[in-house]
Amino acid sequence: MTPTVARFHRIVVKIGSSLLVEDSGIRHQWLDALAADLATVAANGQELLIVSSGAIALGRRILGLPRGTLRLEESQAAAAVGQVALARAWAETLHRHGFTAGQVLLTLDDTEERRRYLNARSTITTLLKLGAVPVINENDTVATTEIRYGDNDRLAARVATMISADLLILLSDIDGLYSAPPKSDPDAHHLPLVPRVTAEIEAMAGSAGSELSRGGMLTKIEAAKIATAAGTAMLIASGHALHPLRRIAEGERCTWFTAQTNPVRARKKWISGHVETHGALVVDDGAVRALRAGKSLLPAGVRTVRGHFHRGDAVAILDPAGAEVGRGLVAYDAGDAERIAGRNSREIETILGFAGRAEMIHRDDMALRGE
Ligand code: GLU
Repeated sequence: MTPTVARFHRIVVKIGSSLLVEDSGIRHQWLDALAADLATVAANGQELLIVSSGAIALGRRILGLPRGTLRLEESQAAAAVGQVALARAWAETLHRHGFTAGQVLLTLDDTEERRRYLNARSTITTLLKLGAVPVINENDTVATTEIRYGDNDRLAARVATMISADLLILLSDIDGLYSAPPKSDPDAHHLPLVPRVTAEIEAMAGSAGSELSRGGMLTKIEAAKIATAAGTAMLIASGHALHPLRRIAEGERCTWFTAQTNPVRARKKWISGHVETHGALVVDDGAVRALRAGKSLLPAGVRTVRGHFHRGDAVAILDPAGAEVGRGLVAYDAGDAERIAGRNSREIETILGFAGRAEMIHRDDMALRGE
């Protein structure tokens, strides 16, 4: 049994360049039909994020750059020009369908390094809370070879796991994964469901990838590994025709990848098990009760700060007797944490001279013992 899109809550939709951009520029009619599909999804109460490629493809057309491989600085220049046009098309189209778009440009570091990861995560979740649709791309104008994803498949998977999305949809020019290249191998069959990304599945992607455009099946399988391990299900579907999301809902052929856990559990496991703690916060009994009731840790509940940690580091949360209550990613450097410990969140700006977060550790960035 394959799942249906309707049962997911937070959905990242990744759109490949070839769907959005053709020789004459943006495929406006297609984009408009997609936005209509997105409006239907949003009306169902589901949250949406877009990861949109197309900046370089669009920019090179606007600048009249020749076909063929671009030098790095040429693709960066193309991205600079193309991203403006791309963002404008998204903002205008989404607006016509009742959405507010918010542009987010990320680099590899923003999704890999914890400190910046916290920032990107809270900006994106705040956009969602405010009812805006994040439209995300790689910050291609500053990302050099060493620090760039280069493909939005993996970027989209990282974004999806970073914000605990439960579904990632990759809209591309192929309707899913095949056992072999479908154009050259008559025995190739389509896989509607991949319960787990095994070595065998990876091998299929290797051979099937060769006939595809940039991005290819290999990066899609890489994306599936990242996503499913962190609790995000994934779907590869053909997006070329009008109303691609409606078509999926109507049962058009695609490949589903099953999530191996759920996003909240995966994140808690990561926080509790896989990160080294750099310090500790001793909290009072009231704070322990609040945490057990599902609340965030506020500065007011912190009695003592131990260790030298930076914002985004993992710290232990200890009860007054010194027993570990849980762990979390702290929103302040140790020095600042000490200055606001025991104080009301409203005082933070006066004490520190800048408006920091109201929580010392946000609920989403915390795993209590036994959770
Ligand atoms: N970030 C690139 C762009 O907007 C696209 C990368 C990809 O196609 O996966 O042009």
